[in-house]
Amino acid sequence: MSIAALQIAAAPIIHTNFLEEFFAICKTEFGEENFSKWLASLEIFSESESEIIFSTPSKFIRDWIIREFLEVKSGQKNLKNLAQTLRPQLKKIVVISVAKATEELTPQLSNAEQKIVNLTPHGNVFAFGTELNSRYTFHNFISAKYNKLAVSMAKISAGIDAQINLFDDKIPLFIHGGVGMGKTHLAQAIAWQLKDQDKSKKVVYLSAEKFMYHFVQSIRSNDVMSFKEKMRSIDVLIVDDVQFIAGKESTQQEFMNCFNSLVEDNKQVVLVCDRCPSDLTNIDEKLKSRISGGMIVNFKSPDYQDRLAILKAKAQLMEQEICEKVLSFIAEKISTSVRDLEGALKKLIAGKVLLGEEITLESTKVILADYVRKSHSQAPTIEKIQKIVANFYGIKISDLTAKNRARNIARPRQIAMYLSKNFTSESLPKIGAGFGGKNHATVIHSVKLVKELMNSDQKILQEVKGLEEKILG
Ligand code: ADP
Ligand code: MG
Repeated sequence: MSIAALQIAAAPIIHTNFLEEFFAICKTEFGEENFSKWLASLEIFSESESEIIFSTPSKFIRDWIIREFLEVKSGQKNLKNLAQTLRPQLKKIVVISVAKATEELTPQLSNAEQKIVNLTPHGNVFAFGTELNSRYTFHNFISAKYNKLAVSMAKISAGIDAQINLFDDKIPLFIHGGVGMGKTHLAQAIAWQLKDQDKSKKVVYLSAEKFMYHFVQSIRSNDVMSFKEKMRSIDVLIVDDVQFIAGKESTQQEFMNCFNSLVEDNKQVVLVCDRCPSDLTNIDEKLKSRISGGMIVNFKSPDYQDRLAILKAKAQLMEQEICEKVLSFIAEKISTSVRDLEGALKKLIAGKVLLGEEITLESTKVILADYVRKSHSQAPTIEKIQKIVANFYGIKISDLTAKNRARNIARPRQIAMYLSKNFTSESLPKIGAGFGGKNHATVIHSVKLVKELMNSDQKILQEVKGLEEKILG
């Protein structure tokens, strides 16, 4: 459907002052500054009783608004619950980015946005499922070495690359991998894609928890038959976070029945999990072997080259130019997950937009200090800090862990304890133990003392700063 058609099709709303009143509420709830910086640019793109599509002038603002004002923790104020105070029937708010010149919108929309528009008026998924994140499309998913196989398999499941019809029958797909690696994004991309190809298809995406919830509800309301019927009428079932089904016997049984019947009917089933089937404990062996019978793909961790490729592609998707040096720094320092890579990039870009600062390697190091500290494999350890401190003061590492009270040894030891407290997530007793079995009170004393010295003694301040830089690399 074209955008113009969609706008006409949307039921007109009598409530003409909605935006004005909505803005007034947003100003009060989020503050004048947040409002003028981010929300004032919102325009109503289309609306119906149950849904409003807002447009923003750029993808960056759109993503920011979705993250900070829409997809916030439940219970917190967000655009949806504020809008619901004015319009209780409202079920959904969508934010898209639209370049200016509204009349000539259509050609300027990217593929992904076109998809969002096509899919919005509810029915995006069968009422049963969970709403899909509008960002989680194939268009926004970056394929690199580490996830190539998973992406190819997902595309086959989604009916792209249909010519690679390796098998006559649809084979269940089981995707597993660590947290923040993009499993949910990929699973939802399959749902968007399938729905986009054929709107009549009943594509259901839901988490295992939701499956359980609906099942239990149906038992409570004496409506199990209709639950079963609904589940069996699905064309494509995508279940995320399958690990949550462990331990719940009756749900597992129903899940297996449903799985079996869909597979028998040659329907596509995609399961997503944080571990491989054999590592699932508390799951019925029969169910395990059933789901292991499909195609199993593992999301490995991205290596440095992959991480760099992801950052480059992400920067491009966000329409930001960031120099190679900065991107390689992030790729080198942050190795925990794609989510952390993305978070780091967004933090940098936010700094640029809000403070108008250019992104340089130096500013990146400062802005990302927290992320870099958090990144496990690169996170400094007590041993690494001791090595750097010993090197810097020209003493032996064993001096730092011995009982020697001489000033030239005791001071570096205190500084090393201070740095260990600040740069590792180790507990005070653990830090004490790392310094030759000191107790936690000694560590607290050292941390306090070094803080005071940094205020009163310029030389110590310089030394500590120098050491901090060495630790952060
Ligand atoms: P998981 O389900 O594996 O824990 P998510 O799918 O929630 O991870 O991904 C975390 C974040 O990282 C999301 O914002 C997602 O868009 C992003 N992300 C992960 N992998 C990729 C990728 N290959 N390309 C683009 N974005 C990605
Ligand atoms: Mg997930």
